[in-house]
Amino acid sequence: MVYIKVLCPDCGSEDVVLYGKNTSGKQRVLCQNPECSRKTFQLEYTYNAYKPGIKQQIVDMAMNGSGTRDTGRVLGVSKDTVTAVLKKRKNSPSR
Ligand SMILES: [Zn+2]
Repeated sequence: MVYIKVLCPDCGSEDVVLYGKNTSGKQRVLCQNPECSRKTFQLEYTYNAYKPGIKQQIVDMAMNGSGTRDTGRVLGVSKDTVTAVLKKRKNSPSR
């Protein structure tokens, strides 16, 4: 038997329970911390773009001068995903 310690990616709480599986068979996890903004997350994701924190990484790379295709290649997401994330971002600094 192997135990894997699972922490919520948002609040870092250990107060999580297994919450079924999604249609592709990946384990879902429910965070039971009442102050947490995230309710569920998965242990592994089919697409890198859904991983918690990847959108912030896209914005950080853009601020450091990485191009759209560069960012996509490094993070393993589509260049169109990178563009969509940057377009959706509110309060983006004006040029
Ligand atoms: Zn949480």
